[in-house]
Amino acid sequence: LDAIEAGAEYNAYISVFERDALLQKAREVDAARAAGKSAELGLLAGVPIAVKDNICTRVGKTTSGSKMLANFESPYDATVIQKLEAAGAIIVGKTNMDELSMGSSSETSYFGAVRNPHDIERVAGGSSGGSAAAVAANLCLASLGTDTGGSIRQPASHCGVVGVKPTYGRVSRYGVVAYASSLDQVGPMTRSVADAALMLEVLCGEDPLDATSSAREVPRFRDALGKGVKGLKIGIPKEYQSGEEGVDPQVLSRVREGIDRLVAAGAEVVPVTLPHTEYAIATYYLVAAAEASSNLARLDGARYGLRVEADNLSDMYNKSRAEGFGDEVTRRIILGTYVLSSGFYGQYYGKAQQVRTRIQRDFDAAFEEVDVLVAPVAPTAAFRIGEKSDDPLTMYLADIFTISANLAGIPAMSVPCGKTDEGLPVGLQILAPAFDEEMMLRVAAEVE
Ligand code: GLN
Repeated sequence: LDAIEAGAEYNAYISVFERDALLQKAREVDAARAAGKSAELGLLAGVPIAVKDNICTRVGKTTSGSKMLANFESPYDATVIQKLEAAGAIIVGKTNMDELSMGSSSETSYFGAVRNPHDIERVAGGSSGGSAAAVAANLCLASLGTDTGGSIRQPASHCGVVGVKPTYGRVSRYGVVAYASSLDQVGPMTRSVADAALMLEVLCGEDPLDATSSAREVPRFRDALGKGVKGLKIGIPKEYQSGEEGVDPQVLSRVREGIDRLVAAGAEVVPVTLPHTEYAIATYYLVAAAEASSNLARLDGARYGLRVEADNLSDMYNKSRAEGFGDEVTRRIILGTYVLSSGFYGQYYGKAQQVRTRIQRDFDAAFEEVDVLVAPVAPTAAFRIGEKSDDPLTMYLADIFTISANLAGIPAMSVPCGKTDEGLPVGLQILAPAFDEEMMLRVAAEVE
């Protein structure tokens, strides 16, 4: 708690829970240990964890970084919160984020931009920038983020921490403010691969309250670590490699050094191809905007969230939404509403779903040849605050390496693989077949 106060300049937290209540929980864990009852404590007993502010907690507010929800108090806990608490974790507060998870820099937050602990003039990445900065600056031991198109992996890369987007369906989305329901996943952000494995063991599993959650058995992810990579085949997608695509040379070098470590440990590099990569950005921004426009229709001033009083219902909707949503969210709602409107549905959303299937098949084919794929996470290290604020398209294009995993539903993670000459962290991305987080973590442990 003292560290959180001292690190206020990063703006990583939107709210911190009440000190006395937190200390009481910590004392209970200490007392149990002192009484020799350690064996009865959960896997995360006493571990201070921060949670992205789009994940509902009964305690405090759940703002999703938006003026619309700035005073929203959830009447219930998300399933992932229940799971963390059942494992003994102490949730210390809620982290800052791009408004409603839309963005790649955590600058669109109603609560101000998150600052990168490695250079406070730079962004922490986004949308889970607060969760990444909080782990990087030691303002918690681990955190939860959400990843719809890279929002766990990209800030993890920019802040030098480990970030995992699990397979779609691995982790319950119940109680998570929906952005794009067919893409969203909750995942851990941690200081090490081993910590990520522990967090996943707690977070994963079927939830009757989320119809898309999977009944697959949850492995002991810890057991995957330390097996080494000897004999594994590491695929390098040719489409992700070309320096001409605006990938910073320093980022490419760090990524290559990460791959070299895997080769030195006995892995074999195999070139693969993901031919539909060039359509990924267009497909993602269509699907994500369409689903977001539908999901956000509920924020109308009538049920919850901000209400601006007006003479009639229609004016009340309009004024509440105009006042409650920032520019980026408004842009997405307009785009999403347009592509779903009658007459355009087949042309845009329907088409995007077809391309999405092609992207999935690209991965299926690649994983016939290799155990995992490796790639950069982002084309550059953390950029300066404000540098891209007026240029949403450039920001969208920088999502090229992360969005395909969400479209395909496969697990992907970022693991630190070095720093630029300016001291900015760079992450290596590892992608694995659906439900093979174990393979992904095993490879990541060898890069770290
Ligand atoms: N940058 C992407 C977007 O703005 C991804 C965000 C996310 O994963 N939540 O949509």
